[in-house]
Amino acid sequence: MAYEYLLREFRTVGLLPKGSVGYLQPFPFNAGSFLGTTNSLKVNKKDFVVGDQFYPLAYSANKSFSGTSILIGYGISAPGRNDYDGLTDLAGKVFVMEIGYPEGMDAHSKMAEYADLRTRIDTAIFKGAAAVVFINTDKKTENPSKKYSNRITASNIPVVFAGGDATALIVEAKTALISGEAEILKNEKTGHNMLGFIDNKAENTIVIGAHYDHLGYGIEGSLFRGENKEIHNGADDNASGTAGLIELARLLKNSAYKGNNYLFIAFSGEEMGLLGSNHLIKHIPIPVEKINYMLNMDMIGRLKPEDPVLIINGAGTSPEWNKAFNLISVEGMKTKTTESGVGPSDHTSFYLKDIPVLHFFSGTHADYHKPEDDENKINYLGEKMILEYMLKMIAVIDNKGKIAFTKTKDSDSEDAPRFKVTLGVVPDYAFDGEGMRIDGLSDGKPAQKAGLLAGDIVVQLGENKVTDMMSYMKALGRFVKGDKTNVIVKRGTESVTKEIEF
Ligand SMILES: [Zn+2]
Repeated sequence: MAYEYLLREFRTVGLLPKGSVGYLQPFPFNAGSFLGTTNSLKVNKKDFVVGDQFYPLAYSANKSFSGTSILIGYGISAPGRNDYDGLTDLAGKVFVMEIGYPEGMDAHSKMAEYADLRTRIDTAIFKGAAAVVFINTDKKTENPSKKYSNRITASNIPVVFAGGDATALIVEAKTALISGEAEILKNEKTGHNMLGFIDNKAENTIVIGAHYDHLGYGIEGSLFRGENKEIHNGADDNASGTAGLIELARLLKNSAYKGNNYLFIAFSGEEMGLLGSNHLIKHIPIPVEKINYMLNMDMIGRLKPEDPVLIINGAGTSPEWNKAFNLISVEGMKTKTTESGVGPSDHTSFYLKDIPVLHFFSGTHADYHKPEDDENKINYLGEKMILEYMLKMIAVIDNKGKIAFTKTKDSDSEDAPRFKVTLGVVPDYAFDGEGMRIDGLSDGKPAQKAGLLAGDIVVQLGENKVTDMMSYMKALGRFVKGDKTNVIVKRGTESVTKEIEF
C-alpha cells in the first residue's frame, strides 16, 4: 500500500505524533458498484443469464419484481410526443421501452431532454411501473453501458436491460409475464489520509498538503484510450507534490520558522472528487479556526525548462499573499498568479472553510492523466526551485500571526463549458444520498443570491428532479442565461423552495 511507504517517510523525517495528531485517518468511500449474485430474468418461463442477455442498469433498485409486461414505445412523455397516449391500466405492470431515440429525434433538440433515461424512468415510476425493462430493436442503437458509476443513484424500482433473444421474446409476446431480480452492490472501500505534525507550541497551524492517490490502472478520469490497461504512475500528478510534502517537512522540522505549527497531510481520494480533503476538513484533529493557511502542491514536477513559470492559484484568498509575492523570488523562475480559491484540487476544501489557500502548480501537459505521466519527464531542479519558493513564502510571513482571509470571485467551479448557465456552487462529490449536496457557494452567483446555503441538498431544479450529480448536470443543461426557476433543497429535515435566476 502506498500509504505504508509514506508512513515510513513521515517517520524518517521525524513527524512523530507523540500525543498529538498524526498518521492514518481512514475514511469510507464508494469506489463504484458491481453486479451481485442474485440477478435473474425470466420471460414467459424462459430464463436468461445475467451478462450479455440482460443486466440491471445503474438506475436500478435492488429488488425482485414480477408482472405482466406492456410495451410503451420509448417511454417518452413530452410536449408534442406522448408514448403513453391511449394506454390505461398501467399500475403494477412491467414497462417495456426502447432504449434508443425515436426516428428523427435530434439528440440536441428540446425533446431529447425528455428522452434521457432518468426522466423516462421517473415518468414510469409516476405512472405506477413495477419495473422498467429496456429493450433494443434498433440495430443502429448501442446497448446501454454496463458501467456502474458511483455518480448515478438508484431509483426505487428495478431497471434492467434485456438484449438479444430476450428483446425478441418480449416484443413477439406483446404481453409477457416477466419476473426477475436486480442486485447491484456498492464497492465500499477505505481511503487513508496521512497526517504528520510539527508542534512548535505556536497558536496557529499551517496546513501543507498534497494528494498521493492517482488513477491506478485507469479509473474514471483517465484520458488513456489504449486497448490494454496500463499503470498510471502519476509522477507529476501527484508523486511530485507528495515528494514536495516530505521534503518541506524535512526542511521545516529543522528550520527557524517557528511562528506556527505545521500539519502535513497526504490526501487520498483526490482523483475521485476531493474525497480525502473533504473528509479531513470535517474531521480535522485541530480546531479549524486555528488553521492559519493552507498550501497545496498538486503537480509541481513539470516546470518547463524553456519557460519556467510557477503558477500559484488562490492569490486572492488573503491580502498577505501579494505582499509576500513581491518580497520573494527564486532565480531562474517566474511566477504567474490567479485569484480564485476554488479549483480542481484539495485546497478547495479549505478555502470553503474560509481559510487562505495557495495551490502551487507547474502547469498542464499532454501526459496529464495518462500512463506517460512518468518519472523520466520530471524536472527535478524545477521542483527544487518551487519548494525553495514555498519555503521563502513561509519565512516572510512567519511572524505575521494569523493572516486575513478574503473571498474571491470564483472562476466557474462547475467548469464544464457545455453549460450555458451556472448555479455557482461546489458540489459535494462524496455525498452518497439522494440529490446534490452543496459544499460551498461562490460569491455573487445565482445560488448564493437565491439564499442557498452550504449543506443544502438540491432535489429539484425547475421541473427536473435532481437525484444525483448526473441528473443535476442534466437539469442544469436545460437552462439558459436569464431563465428564472424554482429550486427545491432539503435543509436539515425541512424542504425549502427558492427562486433562482441564472
Ligand atoms: Zn492531482
